[in-house]
Amino acid sequence: MTQLVLATGNAGKLKELQALLAGQPFTIVTQKSLGVSDADETGLSFVENAILKARHASRATGLPALADDSGLCVDALGGAPGIYSARYSGDGATDARNNEKLLQALRPLRGGAPLTARFVCVLALVRHADDPLPLICQAEWEGEILESPRGEQGFGYDPLFWVPSAGMSSAELPRERKNALSHRGKALALLEARIERFLQSAPQSPSRP
Ligand code: IMP
Repeated sequence: MTQLVLATGNAGKLKELQALLAGQPFTIVTQKSLGVSDADETGLSFVENAILKARHASRATGLPALADDSGLCVDALGGAPGIYSARYSGDGATDARNNEKLLQALRPLRGGAPLTARFVCVLALVRHADDPLPLICQAEWEGEILESPRGEQGFGYDPLFWVPSAGMSSAELPRERKNALSHRGKALALLEARIERFLQSAPQSPSRP
């Protein structure tokens, strides 16, 4: 059975990814359990950061690696916090501080139409560190930003993310229901459909001319 390194240190995402990947024909090991440090997220897009993280984990372990880069994009804030979602409130950012900063930023913008937003998830899978053709799966989840937190489940911005189709916040959704609707769940469904063939295909490595 193929081993796959999961390039995330975020405990909330790890829980979701492990549940979603159970039953796949490969075993998952986390980069943390193999002593791999977090990669520097220096990219300017979700896809660049996902690839950076996957290559970093694969280079350090010699195994195929799967990385997830995700975040919340709020229309009224020009797409912020976006790729900076985890670090939105600066050094020592926590979910609580990030949520507080988001509420503050949106306070002067309230009163009109709902504050639309979406979670974005990009998964990148590389067969080896220099894989020139990573498998990329991207999905989004539309919602609105609440005025105050609701719910205890999930992580990150879940308590502020209102899901109109469900009539509750993302932090009020039972885990299976969130996984069926969410950006990460949908990106993983795309991955599931393609992963076996991708891992079996010959990894390419063109040499530099
Ligand atoms: P990353 O680890 O750099 O991809 O940062 C992702 C950040 O986006 C997380 O730390 C959360 O703040 C936010 N985020 C991503 N997905 C979710 C989700 O499903 N619920 C709530 N927050 C999320």
